[in-house]
Amino acid sequence: MFRRLLLTLLAPALLSACAPDAREVVVYSARGEQLIQPILERYAAQTGVDVRWINDKEGPLMQRLLSEDEQTPADLFLTVDAGNLWLAAENGLLQPARSQQLNSNIPAHLRDESDRWFGLSVRARTIAYSTERVDPEMLGSYADLSDPKWRGRLCLRTSKKVYNQSLVAMMIAGHGEEKTEEIVRGWVENLAAPVFSSDTRLLEAIQAGQCDAGIVNTYYFGRLQKKDPSIPIALHWPPEGVHVNVSGAGIVRHTDNRDGALALLEWLSSAEAQQEFAAVNLEYPANPAIAVDPLVAAWGEFEPDLINVSRAGELQAEAVRLMDRAGYR
Ligand code: FE
Repeated sequence: MFRRLLLTLLAPALLSACAPDAREVVVYSARGEQLIQPILERYAAQTGVDVRWINDKEGPLMQRLLSEDEQTPADLFLTVDAGNLWLAAENGLLQPARSQQLNSNIPAHLRDESDRWFGLSVRARTIAYSTERVDPEMLGSYADLSDPKWRGRLCLRTSKKVYNQSLVAMMIAGHGEEKTEEIVRGWVENLAAPVFSSDTRLLEAIQAGQCDAGIVNTYYFGRLQKKDPSIPIALHWPPEGVHVNVSGAGIVRHTDNRDGALALLEWLSSAEAQQEFAAVNLEYPANPAIAVDPLVAAWGEFEPDLINVSRAGELQAEAVRLMDRAGYR
């Protein structure tokens, strides 16, 4: 009797001395801090879980996970672009999160086949054009932008950006390497200006009349449109399927709080979090049951490319070589 009492009294002290604190979840995040902070704070307030995060670019964060190895304080890794998520999984930094809830909330083409990461918001990379100088009838597929009718009228962001590497990788998945290289060569021939460092700069160049069309992530257009609702630029949805990518997350392989990481990941995929997770950056919720932000909805509906976004990672190196051969800087 006395012995049992002693154990009961000692148990919590022993637990806290050697077990990880289940009330704390550490997130390594390469998604903009202003985008994740309000959501993580809401989760913390609702659950009493102490959520901490470290923000950095994806490269340094992955390097950090690699070097911290089993000592890492991280429980969840969050980043933009399926290419980055794929790379983290390939480098053994993530572990599978087997979860009925995640599988039903997130469509199959937006998550890893081995459950190591899940898309949480969808970003569409599509064609933006000047409403002052382009007849929408002129617009078609991404491939059509390589047509000579666009000579001296096209703007592109640098091929160094993972968004374009993922776009070209997905084009390789869809069209094959040879056809894709032909398209990319055509784009380069049609350039009106040297490649831009950001999608925003590219959109500003269209607005300023430097070029007439380009390829951007829609939320960059949304940000400009929010500031200036009459901006003379519109979005076009390629009919063969719009290139979509994700921001997403996976459980860190060497987490000491697997349950806490899984609970947060499941919550991020749920109706409760999805609307805000996407709307704060004018993206699309990965969970198809959730309505999009009204400003985003006004751009109209589109058919996404349904090839699994992990192909963007698998074909990334090939895409980089292809763009180099095609002279896309
Ligand atoms: Fe971005």
